[in-house]
Amino acid sequence: MTSSVLKFGGTSVGSLERIEKVADIVAARYLAGEKLAVVVSAMAGQTDDLVKLTKGVVGDGFNTPEFRNEYDVIVSSGEQVSSGLLALTLCRRGLKARSWLGWQLAMKTTTQSPARITGFEGNDFPNAVKSGEIAIVAGFQGVTTNNRISTLGRGGSDTSAVAVAAALGTNSCDIYTDVDGVYTTDPRIVSKATRISRISYEEMLEMASLGAKVLQTRSVELAMNHGVRIRVLSSFDERNTGETGTIVCSEDEIVEKQVVVGVVYSRDEAKITLYGVLDKPGVSARIFSLLAAADVNVDMIVQASARGPAVTNMVFTCPNTQSRLAEQTLEKSQEQIGFERLEIDTDIAKVSIVGVGMKSHTGVAETMFSALHEKNINIDVISTSEVKISVLIESAYTELAVRALHTAFNLDAD
Ligand code: ADP
Ligand code: ASP
Ligand code: MG
Repeated sequence: MTSSVLKFGGTSVGSLERIEKVADIVAARYLAGEKLAVVVSAMAGQTDDLVKLTKGVVGDGFNTPEFRNEYDVIVSSGEQVSSGLLALTLCRRGLKARSWLGWQLAMKTTTQSPARITGFEGNDFPNAVKSGEIAIVAGFQGVTTNNRISTLGRGGSDTSAVAVAAALGTNSCDIYTDVDGVYTTDPRIVSKATRISRISYEEMLEMASLGAKVLQTRSVELAMNHGVRIRVLSSFDERNTGETGTIVCSEDEIVEKQVVVGVVYSRDEAKITLYGVLDKPGVSARIFSLLAAADVNVDMIVQASARGPAVTNMVFTCPNTQSRLAEQTLEKSQEQIGFERLEIDTDIAKVSIVGVGMKSHTGVAETMFSALHEKNINIDVISTSEVKISVLIESAYTELAVRALHTAFNLDAD
């Protein structure tokens, strides 16, 4: 019999009462005959508190290579607590359950941070699951090839769950969270958001990477590569059946294809403008190779001409958390690059529409820009791909923009 992999997020295990509810779901599935590996996140708010403790020692510098190892040791501890608590709750009910930490699973990762899973070593874990023990896995954490604790980036327990499913040879993974599926936009800001019953890997990958926090991007990528179907469902809904939630699967399994499947926003980015950049061959290469060497994750890039032929302005975005690193990196080489001044703007939001149907439909950009114009929202930067259009706007207009686009693309619930 194949095993099932379930994952419960932070809110789902946020208190001892919630852990009892999770134990109800796990016990019911176990008693119905499933062999289970259950991945858990830290109790809600724990990881944030642990990050704050780390910052208390080294300030914002915690994200540097020299401090990352200890950061990982500290922030991964939340999952150690929740996995132990759930295992204990199940044992108290007379079920055979045991916690598994990253190093006990032998879930190997790269040494960079956030780490990427490279594979599993040893058979203890699959054998334990096969033997009928309920394995409670601490999500988010792994062990590097140098035997140090690593973490998979915020939201990384989703990725742990998909990796465990792939390692057990299981082709599905149930991600239990605090909403009953993936919605056309964040249901917490648009009450008219509708649940999507099936979404393709490609669309989910875009939604996640553009800001829909419901699944970590890497988990979708891993699921797509290993053919693992993800089902997103609520741990708060006791009537959950096989029919509820959202299935993330391959595009050819989806009969009804939408032009735009969802609207996504992110306030986690910063816009960096370099004024007075010398307009000559090789300057862009120099800027972005310096940023790449510093591991800055650059997203949108626009170069505009300004003040005559000799100088231009260069605009790019990167995660908010990396904006200081980008600034320091470029200012250190200001003379070598040749620019006048650098400005960081964190008061911005990226709003995007996503859908594979865009590949074969025209007029999508026009509808998007008109909807924003009607609300008098100014577009700062635009970027497109085959399956998404993103715009950068002033942060204060995020919710207005998301709602306007949700309506413009007929996604509002009746
Ligand atoms: P967990 O702790 O279970 O991992 P997360 O907080 O990481 O849960 O993800 C669930 C949250 O994602 C929801 O509470 C919701 O506010 C947010 N979210 C953002 N965009 C979407 C979307 N398109 N569909 C569903 N949820 C979304
Ligand atoms: N606890 C980690 C976080 O808050 C990982 C996760 O919840 O998936 O980011
Ligand atoms: Mg999450």
